[in-house]
Amino acid sequence: MKKYDIVLAPDPILKTKCDPIERIDDEMRVLMDDMLHTMYDAEGIGLAAPQIAINKRLLVLDVDQGKDGERGKPMVFANPEIVWSSEEPNIYNEGCLSIPTHYAEIERPKIVRVRYLDYDGKQQEIEADGLLATCLQHEIDHLDGILFIDYLSNLKRNIIIKKMKKMKKNVQAL
Ligand SMILES: [Zn+2]
Repeated sequence: MKKYDIVLAPDPILKTKCDPIERIDDEMRVLMDDMLHTMYDAEGIGLAAPQIAINKRLLVLDVDQGKDGERGKPMVFANPEIVWSSEEPNIYNEGCLSIPTHYAEIERPKIVRVRYLDYDGKQQEIEADGLLATCLQHEIDHLDGILFIDYLSNLKRNIIIKKMKKMKKNVQAL
């Protein structure tokens, strides 16, 4: 399986709206498997296609995995769409594989209903609560070029971006 490099913020790739997937075929399933492999390897609970520089509405997640990257319940969502969200909010301390070492408390709807195409290209609908709901909304945001730091004040966001720029410079210098 292929392991992709994860795009780090700030990067224009992460600010681009992604295109819908037209067909779930074997090529797409290989990409789904590779994205899961990349996510587990990076010890993340979710990964969206733009984070590996692919401009497609596709995300993978697993909010039930064990501490040692042991697989819980891998899930793939193609063309996910939020069709309903609760008024009741939930706050979660979010992080992102594209913004490593930075976390912030973000408020989002507690429950969402999401329509999507699954691994076999079948249309499904899921009602998600708790961490799964937060993770789905975070990853769907990625498909629209939105990062969790976009919900922070300009001041807080700029501090994180400045630190990320510095970090990327150091990575490139290695
Ligand atoms: Zn993220």
